[in-house]
Amino acid sequence: MILKSNFPLSTITTFQLGGPAKLYLKTALPEEAIAGILSARESGLKYIVLSGGSNVVFQDKGFDGLVIHFTGAKLTSKNLEVLGAKVILPASANWHEAVKKISALGLAGLEKMSAIPGNVGGVVVGNAGAYEQFIGDKIDWVEIFDGKEIRKIKKASCPFGYRDSIFKKKNWLVLRVCLKLKKGLPANLAGDKVKLLKEVNEIAKLRWQKFGCHPTCAGSFFKNIELKKVPKKILAKIDQTKIIENKVSVGYLIGESVPKLKLGGIYIASFHNNFLMNDGTGTTRDLIKLAGKIKQAVKKKFGIELEEEVRYIL
Ligand SMILES: Cc1cc2nc3c(=O)[nH]c(=O)nc-3n(C[C@H](O)[C@H](O)[C@H](O)COP(=O)(O)OP(=O)(O)OC[C@H]3O[C@@H](n4cnc5c(N)ncnc54)[C@H](O)[C@@H]3O)c2cc1C
Repeated sequence: MILKSNFPLSTITTFQLGGPAKLYLKTALPEEAIAGILSARESGLKYIVLSGGSNVVFQDKGFDGLVIHFTGAKLTSKNLEVLGAKVILPASANWHEAVKKISALGLAGLEKMSAIPGNVGGVVVGNAGAYEQFIGDKIDWVEIFDGKEIRKIKKASCPFGYRDSIFKKKNWLVLRVCLKLKKGLPANLAGDKVKLLKEVNEIAKLRWQKFGCHPTCAGSFFKNIELKKVPKKILAKIDQTKIIENKVSVGYLIGESVPKLKLGGIYIASFHNNFLMNDGTGTTRDLIKLAGKIKQAVKKKFGIELEEEVRYIL
């Protein structure tokens, strides 16, 4: 466990933005994270749980409370429980490591989500997904600490939506996750493992080729627009080839509405209009301003209101 005061949040977020946290606790252990929450509650200190820091933006002035950095669990046969096609794993484990380990067991269903940055907990909270695979579809139950007790939430009570879940609305600590996956062909499990791992590696390679291993951003900044939310009149203005998986690509909308803007140290990535990047000198103030300009331009051109996928921690 690490406990520090006045800790620079820019060092633990992929955007490299944010001032200091009043208090910072880093642990992989549920009991230590829970103790942190209980003492914050006792002393009336606000708190937030952070995992990989790949989908959050802290303010330049920092966070006037306790940041619990719940990360670092190494997956072993003790904490990665396999029960047939179900696996139970700790929230503080790295997501990509988990995908590799689970796929190597011949269990299918996560391989397309390989190399999504972050930890298991963060992936569940935001219902992360890629190439039409979403973690929410794989959940059996999620174990949480709600500030008073540890309990299990069954999938039906999580309601997962597009980059959304009940966990986004609650200040709970996600502790463990049970996933319900598919077993490979029983007669040819070894073959399946090889196929699954090949896909895991190919997808990771593709992603890293596109934006590098550690881009200073939080991935897609805005949510793509669900088709059902777009009025017919507006839909007529949109290039139909930019509708993917029943969503209008925000990268396309931004590209049609603004040039490759840069504001202070924050700029629109050359490889993707929906990736806002920090050149190392950016501030959250710059980011909010640039995001505002983009939103305004898209609204003016298409009448569509963009919504942030990243979470601002205020
Ligand atoms: C280069 C890049 C590419 C990306 N590509 C994708 C992609 O393809 N698909 C996709 O869905 N996302 C993508 N993302 C976004 C990000 O990786 C995901 O949202 C990821 O799931 C966030 O996980 P994290 O552990 O970093 O969460 P964090 O950023 O640490 O936290 C995210 C939210 O979850 C909460 N939280 C985290 N852990 C816990 C916990 N244990 N208990 C309670 N609350 C918790 C935090 O309070 C915060 O609100 C990308 C990001 C980057 C930088």
